[in-house]
Amino acid sequence: MYEANENRYNNMSYRRCGKSGMVLPPISLGLWHNFGDVDVLENGKQMLHTAFDNGITHFDLANNYGPPPGSAERNFGKILKDSFLPYRDELIISTKAGYKMWPGPYGDWGSKKYLVSSLDQSLKRMGLEYVDVFYHHRPDPNTPLEETMSTLDLLVKQGKALYVGLSNYGAEETIKASKILNELGTPCLIHQPRYSMFDRWVENGLLDVLGNEGIGAIAFSPLAQGVLTSKYIKGIPEDSRAAKSTGFLQKESVTEVVISKVKKLDAIAQERNQSLAQMAVAWLLKDDRITSVLVGVSSEKQLLDNLGALNNLEFSASELEKIEIILKD
Ligand code: NDP
Repeated sequence: MYEANENRYNNMSYRRCGKSGMVLPPISLGLWHNFGDVDVLENGKQMLHTAFDNGITHFDLANNYGPPPGSAERNFGKILKDSFLPYRDELIISTKAGYKMWPGPYGDWGSKKYLVSSLDQSLKRMGLEYVDVFYHHRPDPNTPLEETMSTLDLLVKQGKALYVGLSNYGAEETIKASKILNELGTPCLIHQPRYSMFDRWVENGLLDVLGNEGIGAIAFSPLAQGVLTSKYIKGIPEDSRAAKSTGFLQKESVTEVVISKVKKLDAIAQERNQSLAQMAVAWLLKDDRITSVLVGVSSEKQLLDNLGALNNLEFSASELEKIEIILKD
């Protein structure tokens, strides 16, 4: 029987999520990869235990995580039942709907029909009565925003979700969605965009919108799926995401140009006595509009490495300048 580390809250300082009552750990754990039926359940369990033992209170899922789709939620449900039920009130569990989940016209995008059915399925798979955050996973160009947002509001009013979030929405779409949600009385808690040293689209408007609207931000793929670590410097390891047939990262994305930047960034990280993964996480957390950095890990060791980022979050002006030159090169 799992018993959580009694000192789990001693070394973690939580960040307020926008202007809400919610706080989140600066590092959260995502279950996109490594928790499907193709993965080893015991490894997933160990990573979740280690996360919670170190004050990581937030686990992020989606209907389609696996593979196969749905299996990450089902496996998480098993681990939850064995380990975490006594701690349910200490956890923030999120899920999403917005990508293809089942065949036919009602298993994808942003209709009321899809979102209501999908959250019901997610709750069953995880064995939960409610999730803490329910996200619309991506904007739907063909469903009126009012329908999608009023469904998020409905699910909160039904008690199936405590808060709602948006993911992959652009700056303008976020403003519109946030206005509708505010009018409905269910403000948008959080936005989940891709954001890393290698993908900075959020700096062109979205982060300003989130700051102005008082919406929190949780950055996904902060390590560019593992590329912003030292693991690919000497080639593509066999057990890496880029090598696995089930991984989303393609070998072709790990180019010589990318690796030459990674090497230069790694040298700066070493000067800071950090791993590159730690520096990549710290670099995101320097902006106080970032509530949390949502890492994925395939081992407990990686999780502990990433947590070490919190020991050095400060950057000198000259370090930031050197990083900027490498990234803009
Ligand atoms: P990361 O950028 O953190 O990449 C995670 C991968 O990087 C790991 O699986 C591992 O890969 C490698 N890694 C992590 N830490 C280390 C380390 N210290 N040293 C070496 N390698 C390391 O994030 P993800 O792309 O996994 O995304 C994180 C989460 O964000 C997801 O789980 C999900 O919850 C969310 N997400 C949301 C999306 C959305 O549309 N809203 C889309 C994508 C993700 P390896 O297997 O090679 O060891």
